Amino acid sequence: MINLDPVLSANLDFVKSCRFICIISFFFPFLIEPIELLKNLDYENEVLKKLRSEVKFNLRVSKSRNTSDDYIPLEFYKYTVVQGDNFFRIMARTGMNIDTISSVNALSSPQDIRVGMTLLIPNMRGVYDTENLSESELSRGKLAEKYSMPNHLIIFDKRRDEWFVPGKTLGKIEKSFFYGLAFHPPLNEGYLTSGFGHRLDPFTKKKTFHGGLDIAAPKGTDVISSADGEVIFIGRKGGYGKLVVVKHIMGYETRYGHLDKMAVSLGDHVKKGQKIGSVGNTGRATGYHLHYEVRRFQKNEKPVFYQHM
Ligand SMILES: [Zn+2]
Repeated sequence: MINLDPVLSANLDFVKSCRFICIISFFFPFLIEPIELLKNLDYENEVLKKLRSEVKFNLRVSKSRNTSDDYIPLEFYKYTVVQGDNFFRIMARTGMNIDTISSVNALSSPQDIRVGMTLLIPNMRGVYDTENLSESELSRGKLAEKYSMPNHLIIFDKRRDEWFVPGKTLGKIEKSFFYGLAFHPPLNEGYLTSGFGHRLDPFTKKKTFHGGLDIAAPKGTDVISSADGEVIFIGRKGGYGKLVVVKHIMGYETRYGHLDKMAVSLGDHVKKGQKIGSVGNTGRATGYHLHYEVRRFQKNEKPVFYQHM
């Protein structure tokens, strides 16, 4: 019917995903039924004291080799960020570490904390494994080996359908995503013609949201994958023209639009820096350029690159 251009469809997707994220963040704390509300982070607060002692106890258990030791079951406390808070204060007061708060709340960076936002604080340090393994003894064994832990100390969190690994921290790769160091630019050369955010649409001259970057380069220039991942879409898609979508860990995906040729197939596992296609002007494009997007849990994010290759 109507051919949505990438700008507009990114915009629509953004609105949709925003709505989705808002619903999630609004209901999420209730869905997982935190046992207690942390009204403030004063050291005299009895609830905070209880949380801190549970965190301490569980940390000891996670390091224990004694098979009779067991955790105080995984529970979540709820805390609403107030003026004057920052990530590091919340972390220090609750006995948490960066990895736990970011993993449990799916934060994309320490700056991702806003006044009024509700955070879940677990009563143990640890991270959710990002491999999406199903609940089975086989998965448990695999993770026990991966994290060098006894099997019984790894927890399957039924409320989230994910494996929680107490006492562990984010891996090197996960950390690099968290600090915005994971993505390589999709072109080795080219120049930015349109940035992320609000802009005047080049066709309609109306103010719209641009969910990615436009990078101009000659026809046929290699387009490379920003990070390791799996090709989950390949083909024509509305204003994107020829599009490749690569799925990465931790809910990330990158999109490469207006391609001339596509050099991968659906389901391919690609490496960071691997060629996935070439620059073209298919779809709704004013000239030869790449339309590039980074999304996390379907929400457009501003692409951040780490130039290190
Ligand atoms: Zn664009």
